[in-house]
Amino acid sequence: MRRHNGTVTAGRFAPSPSGDLHVGNLRTALLAWLCARQSDREFLLRVEDLDRVRPGAEEGQLADLASLGLTWDGPVVRQSERARLYDAALASLAGRGLVYECFCTRREVLEAPSAPHAPPGSYPGTCRDLTEDERAQRRRERPAALRLRAGTATFTVEDAIHGTYEGAVDDVVLRRGDGAVAYNLAVVVDDAHQGVDQVVRADDLLSSAPRQAYLATLLGATPPTYVHVPLTLNVDGRRLAKRDGAVTYADLTAAGVDVLGAITSSLGLDRATPQELLSTFDLAAIPREPWVFVPPT
Ligand code: GLU
Repeated sequence: MRRHNGTVTAGRFAPSPSGDLHVGNLRTALLAWLCARQSDREFLLRVEDLDRVRPGAEEGQLADLASLGLTWDGPVVRQSERARLYDAALASLAGRGLVYECFCTRREVLEAPSAPHAPPGSYPGTCRDLTEDERAQRRRERPAALRLRAGTATFTVEDAIHGTYEGAVDDVVLRRGDGAVAYNLAVVVDDAHQGVDQVVRADDLLSSAPRQAYLATLLGATPPTYVHVPLTLNVDGRRLAKRDGAVTYADLTAAGVDVLGAITSSLGLDRATPQELLSTFDLAAIPREPWVFVPPT
């Protein structure tokens, strides 16, 4: 929706084009579409192709979303085409002393003793206060990643399903040692730049929301409203994946499964097109537990 001051407010779906979407991804996309459309927001598609790209995957994903009856506004945006925006955000943070070089390997981060109460895997700050000499020395050993000098250990977000949610913030990587822009920076820059003020995605990303919202505030943006919807699991209770069998639109359709019907039924809804669901959809009434998907045999 275009507000009276000219800004666009939008929801979005932001798949990584690493392969076909599975039925859990499609369910999340339908929920994101319903939340956006019901609140008169635009619905944007953003292809998160900074890594893990499989040729042809983007086209397949868009075709599957369209087959489900989802529509989107404006051109599809690709992160690989937005380097200038990420560079500008990095420069803005760096200009305020909020970026530092980090030379740690993944292993060093995992093995370093972490700060008290910090969640496992959070960065212990090893490279935060290196001297210029130390940095010069380390640069000869390996290319530096860039990290955020976070000014808080926690941040609170609002989530339509999870309520007020406080989570850890650490010195997240903004640019990896190989030069690639990190997901956490790209997603925040893009949401802010695209006018996304509603983020609907699976709840495996709930714990990332506080650090992303905090980063948004540092970049002068208002954090979005979050809607972290239940994840789709396989019969073993793990996150559904392609290796679990017939889980993609094409495979399921070939097996005689009505994909839209399976998704609406998992949400406790009668089968209907996305457009038809708009008038009655109630986010508050969707099941709160994960959807366990049993592929056809
Ligand atoms: N590209 C991410 C994924 O496919 C989604 C990121 C997001 O929705 O914020 O897992």
